[in-house]
Amino acid sequence: MDGQYLPMSEAKVSVLDWGFLHSDATYDTVHVWDGRFFRLDLHMDRFFRGMEKLRMNLPYDRSAIEKILSTCVALSGHKAAYVEMICTRGGSPTFSRDPRQSENRFIAFAVPFGSVASREQLERGLHVAISNTVRIPPKSIDPTIKNYHWLDLVKGLFDAYDYGAETALIVDINDNIAEGPGFNVFAVKDGRLKTPAYGVLAGITRQTVFDLCGELSLCVSAGDIDRDELKGSDEVFITSTAGGIMPVSKIDETVVGDGKVGSLTRQLTDLYWEKHADPAWSTAVNYA
Ligand code: PLP
Repeated sequence: MDGQYLPMSEAKVSVLDWGFLHSDATYDTVHVWDGRFFRLDLHMDRFFRGMEKLRMNLPYDRSAIEKILSTCVALSGHKAAYVEMICTRGGSPTFSRDPRQSENRFIAFAVPFGSVASREQLERGLHVAISNTVRIPPKSIDPTIKNYHWLDLVKGLFDAYDYGAETALIVDINDNIAEGPGFNVFAVKDGRLKTPAYGVLAGITRQTVFDLCGELSLCVSAGDIDRDELKGSDEVFITSTAGGIMPVSKIDETVVGDGKVGSLTRQLTDLYWEKHADPAWSTAVNYA
């Protein structure tokens, strides 16, 4: 933060930062597995695109930020880490309400790797509830900018807990499935994969599934998925940097497929983790 490396307990932002006051921020999260960043280039692309769309500027270029992230991980000593980079609007020294007067702030941190799904949930599949909460529409907030507008997702999560499920999917303005708190979703039917196209973050893990499907000659597309289509799928899985590809075995009261982790989900998950050691898909952290 502000050009310094600090223990996490000392990393604090000003209450006057618009990132805190107005969610005026963009961020990205990349993970490190076995000492290697996974698809760092794609995360950097998304982060810089988001900043440009929000008209934010930092005094760091791409390679400077990559170095900072690597240093954060090296100082933490983690071999499996969750690494976040954030650009906030910052604050104005004169308390101006004009966002152009703000000095944008950069923060990065590394914490131990975390997953949406526990080990047990990865083995038996997650129980997901579909909430009636509508994801903030793209006309309000451009979902391709990774953002902290999460009140809809958090409400969905509480709806899911009230229902007795473990996590949530929320819907778009047309009541089609959108995404969940920190993940995209895929449906598999008759060997074909589909993921929502509208109003969702273009997840890097989602993109990775497209790329893996290319290697495996599997048919994958993005388009509307309604509740019945999702529940009638042979397999369902969610995707996130926080956990990778994670199976879903129950949606509301409906058991997905035969209730076990599906074969395509397993095949894609195995290949996904194999790619973490491949230099074409990953970059070594400099621990020196
Ligand atoms: N959707 C939302 C709202 C997210 O916040 C995230 C990740 O944090 C995702 C989807 C998954 O994106 P990725 O695969 O890039 O982690």
